[in-house]
Amino acid sequence: MDYRPLGTTDLTVSALGYGASPLGGVFHDIDEADAIRSVRESLARGVNFIDVSPYYGITRAETVLGRALSGMPRADYVLATKVGRYGDDEFDYSAARVRASVDQSLQRLGVDHVDLIQCHDIEFVSLDQVVEETIPALRALGDEGKARYVGITGYSLKALEHVSARAKVDTLLTYCRYNLQDRSFAEWLPTFQDRGIGVVNASVLAMGALTTRGAPPWHPASEPLLAACARAAQLCTDKGSDIAKLALQYALRLPGVASTLVGSAKWDNMARNIAWSEEPIDLDLLAEVEQILAPVRNVGWPVGRPENQDVTVEARSPMA
Ligand code: NAD
Repeated sequence: MDYRPLGTTDLTVSALGYGASPLGGVFHDIDEADAIRSVRESLARGVNFIDVSPYYGITRAETVLGRALSGMPRADYVLATKVGRYGDDEFDYSAARVRASVDQSLQRLGVDHVDLIQCHDIEFVSLDQVVEETIPALRALGDEGKARYVGITGYSLKALEHVSARAKVDTLLTYCRYNLQDRSFAEWLPTFQDRGIGVVNASVLAMGALTTRGAPPWHPASEPLLAACARAAQLCTDKGSDIAKLALQYALRLPGVASTLVGSAKWDNMARNIAWSEEPIDLDLLAEVEQILAPVRNVGWPVGRPENQDVTVEARSPMA
């Protein structure tokens, strides 16, 4: 496992990080014992960075993660959680709520501090509020020893750029914007690097679309986009490979990313992810998959307030 500095923080994170949203049953029902094993074994195999949020499974992911981390030396992992998003349509970025939220997260996680506290999905709220109220409130938590560094997360690269130009942020987490289907983030990366921001890349399996099982029913992508991903997945299966393997290996090749997140509540999946992360990519298969996905390259979907959006949106099929 490779380890990299997280921007200009004093944190060192594994190239492959553990994304804990599946622990909340976000994708499918989970077997809690296997989920706990998935976290513990991942750490034993060298993964040291874990990302979670109170939103995932509406606090369940943090609770299950807290059980998994119970008894493990705190110095063995770098822990990131989030504030501000509490339901599909429930956001509260007020100073009072984010302060209370961190205390509740610490309790669920069974720790006295998190290494990183992130504003969750900033494109859904007023970016002025993020800059003027939320980030200063989170910085103050550093003085109290509850959260060492502050980051922002979201789908809209425009929103991440806007906020990081106006407030000091230590990290940013981008999702679904650098994977086999959407590479938009690559163009923005130098700007964030110039600002000394630690970059975390997430949803490299496109929230399940780039897996053999396919996207969950709530996936926001259009039917043509999901159909193209399914065709690419079938090709990989036909060639004796796995689209998840290609997708993970593809994302891991982007230089300048501190950690690439992937998560699964199934230890078998995580064991494969860790093994794949250390194998070379099949360039011939990549070329064929790129051809299949070319018609939907960088196509996205609307997320958040209209003024904060930045994607090429393909119309949703009326049948979808
Ligand atoms: P993902 O692209 O990593 O896909 C997750 C899905 O892929 C799950 O259903 C999982 O079971 C499945 N999977 C994982 N490994 C597999 C394998 N080897 N074979 C087959 N299926 C496999 O999507 P994600 O979970 O959204 O992203 C990863 C993490 O990134 C999240 O858990 C979260 O921590 C973080 N994230 C953060 C934000 C945000 O802050 N706004 C948004 C998205 C993701």
